[in-house]
Amino acid sequence: MRIGFIGLGSMGSAIAVNLAKAGHDVRAWNRSKVAQESVPGVSLVELAADAFKADAVFTMLSDDPAIREVILDAGLLASAQPGLTHVVTSTISVAFARELELLHEEAGLGYVSAPVLGRPNVAASGQLNILAAGKAEALAAIEPLLVPLSKKVWKLGDNPARANTAKLACNMMIAMAIEAMAESVVLTESVGLDRADFFELILSTLFSGRAYESYSAQITEQSFEPGFKAKLALKDMRLATEFSHEIGRTLPMLEAVREGLDRAVTAGLGDKDWSIMADMTVRGGDALASRKINLEI
Ligand code: NAP
Repeated sequence: MRIGFIGLGSMGSAIAVNLAKAGHDVRAWNRSKVAQESVPGVSLVELAADAFKADAVFTMLSDDPAIREVILDAGLLASAQPGLTHVVTSTISVAFARELELLHEEAGLGYVSAPVLGRPNVAASGQLNILAAGKAEALAAIEPLLVPLSKKVWKLGDNPARANTAKLACNMMIAMAIEAMAESVVLTESVGLDRADFFELILSTLFSGRAYESYSAQITEQSFEPGFKAKLALKDMRLATEFSHEIGRTLPMLEAVREGLDRAVTAGLGDKDWSIMADMTVRGGDALASRKINLEI
């Protein structure tokens, strides 16, 4: 199948390469120049519009404004190949997913929201969990494309916004887990308990599971290379907050992790992994300035 691809960042490049490995003719566009060696098997195209001359197109840009600028403002839906299905794998707002659904319907194109769980290394190994929602016909058209990218495709129904809401809820819970681990370290290190030993205890007893395993290791090793950038995580916490307000609720733990990530980004740490938020909590507010100097930002 001919597949267009928009956005060859950390996640997009891994997914595009896997689509090519699965035997598809992948034509990909990225705003800044990408080395061909970094995306073996993928054909790089000059214009984003070229990626919409395909049976399906994947978008893995960073956020709502990027998708609006590259796709909607440039009129790519109007010039797309008839019958094309657009798969948006980026983490976007619930409101924007609804808007995209409507605009694709008006343009006679298929639309599927398919945000993903898994970091770039998971994407590269074809083990993502994909949260997919859209009209049955559009989902059926693209499901065979998602299978080689994923451990599982979770089909969440015909309302695309469901997938986006579920994705935001997942990231909200991971952020809370990161902050929960950090605050536990504040207590346990104060009495001389080594954090690796404490994490071994909680992973073996109360909190086994992917998020705790992965982020306890980062907090122990204090390695904050992304991964998932704090500035993108802050975007997700803002989107989750917007949606909570839309449904008339204020969620206190969500507010707390959003503020924690906001502090990290404001301190110039937005390109570090989002687990940098834990480091800031462990060190306490006063240590922030010295951390900034240590990281030479
Ligand atoms: P990334 O490495 O920062 O890549 C972002 C991509 O968006 C790049 O291709 C970038 O182009 C492009 N972009 C940003 N603004 C643009 C604009 N105004 N116009 C054109 N292109 C623009 O981010 P990522 O980690 O791959 O994340 C991509 C999406 O996946 C995000 O929605 C994120 O929330 C979601 N996600 C990430 C992870 C993760 O662990 N990293 C996991 C699940 C979901 P340039 O190369 O030119 O900058």
